[in-house]
Amino acid sequence: MDASGSQQLFDDWEDISDSEFLNIPSEQQSIEPQCHLNSESDGKHFDSPRASTSSMHNRNEEALGQETVSTENVRGSKRKGLHENSFSPMQRFFKRHLNVTLLCDQSWCEMKTVYSLLKPFVKRKEMQRAEVQIGKEIHLSREREIQDIVRVEIRSREDAEAVKLLNMLHMTALLEAGERVREFPVFGVLEGVFVKGVIDEVMYNQKGELVLNELKTRKQNCLPSSAQDKVNCFQVGLYKLLFDGLVRGEVKKDHVLNHLKLRSGQVLGAGVQAHAKSIGVQVTTFEELVDALLITVSSSDLPCIDLLQIEYYHQGSSGPIGTRVAPFDEAQLRTELQSQLAYWRGQREPKGVDIEEAWKCKSCLYEQTCNWTKNILQVSDQQADHAS
Ligand code: SF4
Repeated sequence: MDASGSQQLFDDWEDISDSEFLNIPSEQQSIEPQCHLNSESDGKHFDSPRASTSSMHNRNEEALGQETVSTENVRGSKRKGLHENSFSPMQRFFKRHLNVTLLCDQSWCEMKTVYSLLKPFVKRKEMQRAEVQIGKEIHLSREREIQDIVRVEIRSREDAEAVKLLNMLHMTALLEAGERVREFPVFGVLEGVFVKGVIDEVMYNQKGELVLNELKTRKQNCLPSSAQDKVNCFQVGLYKLLFDGLVRGEVKKDHVLNHLKLRSGQVLGAGVQAHAKSIGVQVTTFEELVDALLITVSSSDLPCIDLLQIEYYHQGSSGPIGTRVAPFDEAQLRTELQSQLAYWRGQREPKGVDIEEAWKCKSCLYEQTCNWTKNILQVSDQQADHAS
């Protein structure tokens, strides 16, 4: 059983987490070599639907869409546009937290992420594409294979978050009992920023290892490019950091309340309270629920994630493409994350792709607007001229 709030207005937990959806066009035209077929998939597939991004949030971002974007800031020649005021991007985009999906998008191309926030209508159009919708349906049907969707009426932001926390409580008990769970929400403070995400699937394998499985559906019947694979590994690595932080008891009540600006004493709506009761949780306020969740998860028998796995699935044939075990190097992961967060904190300008990855621009939604690669090529030519 997986509860979902009936008012998506408040739900900014996570949008579709499959970052390959965001980059499918880039891969289609990429000159990067791709690994072709032949996988070691065990034939077991899992699911995952998504929560949608808050419409309230999107409206805030749309208001910022009037802002001029300039990539003339290569080498700091003309610093206008993306950093033309003293607010950090976290403040300018009204962000209390970041989503794993957004960080993965940023890992592909930071400039593209900024454009997607400034021009959310372009991004929304992209998300209507057939392969994205098919992917969402596959995720949803997989979730429904093992859990029913229960609609819960929500009346406040606290209610919306409470539904997620109740899902976590319910799924923690299932996991402890040895069952697999899908759409497991995770959150925590990483490098000083509150980050949220939703893990596709968690279960124990035959060796007794706790496995995190991320489903990636693909239009092409082949494994992704190394660039896309890198982003996917980054994604599951972030999920592991968040999940492990929860079971280790590193997430504190104040993190949730303060970072998300939620009211601790807010009485939960009747629908949420009734749902809590139906799964054996007696709580009245949001704070009580946060306490119950954090204590339950941290004192549970759940270990940290042992194995990170990415499962690739072909949309057309509804068959497996392959399963990849993702490496986990915490130091490297945190270094990359720190570099990304430096942008959100306003400590540096946003940057586009490296020149070796200019192939990503060929199918980028913002290619017409973005001058990043043209500018770096120009600067490089000028430097060559100057040197000669
Ligand atoms: S055109 Fe290239 S550098 Fe610019 S946003 Fe797109 S991928 Fe990034």
